[in-house]
Amino acid sequence: MTENIKMAELLLPDIKNTPDYYENMYPERNLPEGARVVRVAPSPTGYLHLGTLFAALVNRITATSTGGVFFTRIEDTDKKREVEGGIEDIIDGLNRFGITIDEGFTVGSTQSGEYGPYKQSMRAEIYQTYVKKLIIDGLAYPCFCTAEELEQVRAEQEKNKIRTGYHGEYAKHRNITFEQAKALIDAGKPYVIRLKSPGNEQNRIVFEDGIKGKIEMPENDEDFVLLKSDGIPTYHFAHAIDDHLMHTTHVIRGDEWISSVPKHIQLFRLLGFKPPKFAHVAPIMKLDNGAKRKISKRKDPEAAVRFFAEQGYESENVIEYLMTIASSDFEDWRRANPTVSYKDFKFNLKKMSVSGALYDENKLLDVSKNRIALLKSYEVYEKLTAWAKEFDEPFFKLLTANPEYTKSILAIDRDNAPKPRKDLAKWNEAKEFYAYFYDETFVPCYCLPEHIDKADAAAFLSEYIKIYDEKDDRQEWFAKIKQIAPTLNFAAETKEYKANPDNYKGHAGDLSTVLRIAITGRTNTPDLCSIMQVLGKEECIKRIENTIKNLEV
Ligand code: GLU
Repeated sequence: MTENIKMAELLLPDIKNTPDYYENMYPERNLPEGARVVRVAPSPTGYLHLGTLFAALVNRITATSTGGVFFTRIEDTDKKREVEGGIEDIIDGLNRFGITIDEGFTVGSTQSGEYGPYKQSMRAEIYQTYVKKLIIDGLAYPCFCTAEELEQVRAEQEKNKIRTGYHGEYAKHRNITFEQAKALIDAGKPYVIRLKSPGNEQNRIVFEDGIKGKIEMPENDEDFVLLKSDGIPTYHFAHAIDDHLMHTTHVIRGDEWISSVPKHIQLFRLLGFKPPKFAHVAPIMKLDNGAKRKISKRKDPEAAVRFFAEQGYESENVIEYLMTIASSDFEDWRRANPTVSYKDFKFNLKKMSVSGALYDENKLLDVSKNRIALLKSYEVYEKLTAWAKEFDEPFFKLLTANPEYTKSILAIDRDNAPKPRKDLAKWNEAKEFYAYFYDETFVPCYCLPEHIDKADAAAFLSEYIKIYDEKDDRQEWFAKIKQIAPTLNFAAETKEYKANPDNYKGHAGDLSTVLRIAITGRTNTPDLCSIMQVLGKEECIKRIENTIKNLEV
C-alpha cells in the first residue's frame, strides 16, 4: 500500500465505495438540448428570506424558459444554526408564492427525485467517498491545528501584513506523514481534512459569469477545509459534489459566493468534474438615508417573506414585482401582455442588474394595484377573505356575514367599469377602505369643506331626501343634485361657476361632496351612486337624516 492509500484508510476506514459507484448511480439527465438544470440550496436557519425567494424565482424561470429542471437542496451542514421547522417554512413558502419545485424537497419535508437525497446531512458517505479519493490522489490531508493555533497564525500574518489563511508555509500539516497522523489520531486529537491546493496565487483564473460577465481572480492556493472534524463537509466541498452528481448546469446563487468561485472551479477540476456555469445574483438593496445597502434581516421587516403575507400582499403580485427587479425588460413585456402569466416571459440572465436592484415599496404597491384592478369582484372576495381569515379574524367575520353584500361592495367601479378603479394594493388596506359599508366600522363625519356653509348643506340634504330614488342610475342621480343646486344659489354646471364664481356659492359638485360626506364620512370614495345603491335606501336615508341633525345643531 502506498503512503496515500494508507492515509486514506486511516482517516476513512468505513468508506468502501469508490466515486464510480455514485457516478453510475446518478447518470446524466435525459433532457433536450439547452435545458438548464438549476436549484436553490437554502439552509434551514429560519424563515424564508426575500433573497431566497428572489433567487428561487430566477432559477425557476430559468428552468421553465429552457424546458429544464428546478430542484431544491437543503444545506444543513451547520447543525448549530438549524431551526425546527425551517425546511417546511422555506419549501411551503416557495409553493405559496407559486414557485413550483420539480425535484428535491417539493412540499413540506418530502423529497422526490432520482438524484437524492437532497439534504446534505444525509449525504455524508458520498462526500467522504470523494474525499477518500482526493487523499489517495495526494490532494487532501488531515490537519490537527486547534482553533487557537489557527488564530495565532492569523494574528502573525496580520502583524506581518501577509495575506491571512492556511496557505504556503502557513499550511502546517500540508506534508504530514502517515506515521505522524496515526500518532496524533491514536492520541485522540481531532482533525479536519483539507485540500492540498496545487494553486498558485500568481496565476489568474478567468470565468464568464452569466450575470456579471467576464471575471478574473487569482487562483486559489489556500488549503481550505473539505471535511470538518465531525465528517461533515464545508459548503465549498458539498457544493462541488452535489452540483456535479445532481447534474446542475447553472449555479445561480447570491453574489456573496463570487469570491469563492476560484475554490469551486479548482475543486471541480481536481475531482475531474466539468464545472457548471455560474451566475451570481446581486442582492436586493434598500435606500437608507440616501445610501444603498443590502436588505438586512435585522433592520428590515420585509427581509422575511412572511411580512408580505401579513400585510396582505397577494403572493403573485409580489412575484410580479420581483420580476420587474429581475429583468429590465419585463415591464415592457407586461404592458404588451397584460393578462398572461409571468411564466411566459422569455427570461434572460443577462438582463439582470449587476450591482443590485433597489427595493421600492411604492413600486410594489403600484404593481399590486394594477394587478388587483384586473380582478373580478368574486376573485377579490375570495382572496380578501382568505387573507382576513388568516390575519384578521374580526374583519373576516364582517366580510363573510353577508357574502353577497360584500361582493356587491367589491363590484363597485370594478366588474362593469370600462377602467376599473386602481385603489387597493394589499388586503390590510381594505378594512379602512370599506369601513363605511358596515355599521360596525362606519365612522360618521360631519365636517364640510370650508367654503360650504352648514345651513346650505343641511338645506340641500333636506331637499335631496325628498327626491332621492334608490333606483336612479348615475345620470339621474346627478341630475337630481343639479336640479337642487340653483335653488340654493349653487351653479348646476361647473363651467357656469368657473365663468362667474362670484355669482354662486359653489357648484353641483360641491353638493355631491356634501352627500358623499353624509353617506360615507369621507370626501373621496369610489362612485357614490353605486355606493348608495349597495347601502340601500333605508341606510342612506338614515345617514342623511343624521347628518342633517348634526349640521343643524
Ligand atoms: N446554502 C447556500 C446559501 O444559502 C447556497 C448557495 C448556493 O446556492 O450554492 O447561501
